[in-house]
Amino acid sequence: MSTETEPKLGFDTLQVHAGADPDPATGARQVPIYQTTAYVFRDADHAAALFNLQEVGYIYSRLTNPTVAALQTRIATLEGGAGAVCCSSGHAAQIMALFPLMAPGKNVVASTKLYGGTVQQFSNTIRKFGWSAKFVDFDDLDAVKAAIDDDTRAVFCESVANPGGYITDIPAIAAISDDAGIPLIVDNTSATPYLCRPIELGATLVVHSTTKYLTGNGTVTGGAIVDSGKFNWSANDKFPSLSAPEPAYHGIKFHEALGPMAFTFHGIAVGLRDLGMTMNPQAAHYTLMGIETLSLRMARHVENAVKVATWLENDPRVDFVTYAGLPSSPYHDRVAKICPKGAGGLFTFAVKGGYEACVKLVNALKIFSHVANLGDTRSLVIHSASTTHRQLTPEQQEAAGAAPNVVRLSIGIEDAADLIADLDQALAAATA
Ligand SMILES: *Cc1c(COP(=O)(O)O)cnc(C)c1O
Repeated sequence: MSTETEPKLGFDTLQVHAGADPDPATGARQVPIYQTTAYVFRDADHAAALFNLQEVGYIYSRLTNPTVAALQTRIATLEGGAGAVCCSSGHAAQIMALFPLMAPGKNVVASTKLYGGTVQQFSNTIRKFGWSAKFVDFDDLDAVKAAIDDDTRAVFCESVANPGGYITDIPAIAAISDDAGIPLIVDNTSATPYLCRPIELGATLVVHSTTKYLTGNGTVTGGAIVDSGKFNWSANDKFPSLSAPEPAYHGIKFHEALGPMAFTFHGIAVGLRDLGMTMNPQAAHYTLMGIETLSLRMARHVENAVKVATWLENDPRVDFVTYAGLPSSPYHDRVAKICPKGAGGLFTFAVKGGYEACVKLVNALKIFSHVANLGDTRSLVIHSASTTHRQLTPEQQEAAGAAPNVVRLSIGIEDAADLIADLDQALAAATA
């Protein structure tokens, strides 16, 4: 929850150093795991000042913890945001991002090209809060415009969409949400700030599943919400959580009092306090370890993905490959604008022989692990239609790029030649 940013340093330096000064108590060079629930107040006045938000400090680890705070500063810095709040999972981050914006009867306009779990969360679960989502094809800019109504409080998309192959034209969508005075939330999980910088492209908020590439080794779940600090929450009465007096903190108006840190402070002082979707310090530690090598891993993920996707595209047993890093992709021309260092490590391909052949292929792969995860150093495979996207209707599966004949790969950092050899033998088994 720091405003500290060091714009002059490069990404590779910041991914190692941002938020991680030597420990003030011991000089420890690595960020210690502050495995504590509570923090001793200097005296009663100090305690009162902390509870009144008059002084920033540590009270209780549901709200703040120094290990988690180091990670928050690091992620905010890498995304070029004013502040960040970490939480227990990517799905928690999505609820935490919407929570200050929404109210019963309000809606979010969302892309049809989203992670399957997000389609579920937005289609069904958020209705219990009286919120709703309108799903729109984000390539149809007129449809996006038309979907925004007086009750819309957020526009939501992914930068490079999971399960792969789709890149959102973020500046075009940001222009529409700006005109409407509505914040644009971009899920940057698949791209990471190394490949894509949504705030520079016009996003108000960025959400992450830190479970994936940011941690990078499949050890812990986590999420983050980064605020650009640029949105004017007080332009009208649409965002009272941030612009109107907050009764729980003796009438403080978050935006007026905290300016660019309003959303971040609200996320901690109200969001984490009352929803309790807190990241624990152990998880923050693993993610801090992972982020140190983010750029190195992402460069290799991209390099390997291009090699594997190119090989698959030229194989007669494969119907098509949807990877925006291939010149054949309809989204290839967005790479230079949206994610100039590459289209990520995630894509799908269609196996000749449909659903049955996909299931055989998944069973025959040896290096690729069959898991419901992505963004690991290990290569992963999943047949979305029978797993992550199983609960969706056939139309939703198709729209999300998870049709029954399609397999999703999350390309790891192994030797590309070994990955290709594994796919070669599995395709032989699948299409025999
Ligand atoms: C995994 C994922 C999520 C959900 O994150 P969890 O950490 O599993 O809760 C959200 N969005 C995208 C793009 C994801 O890949």
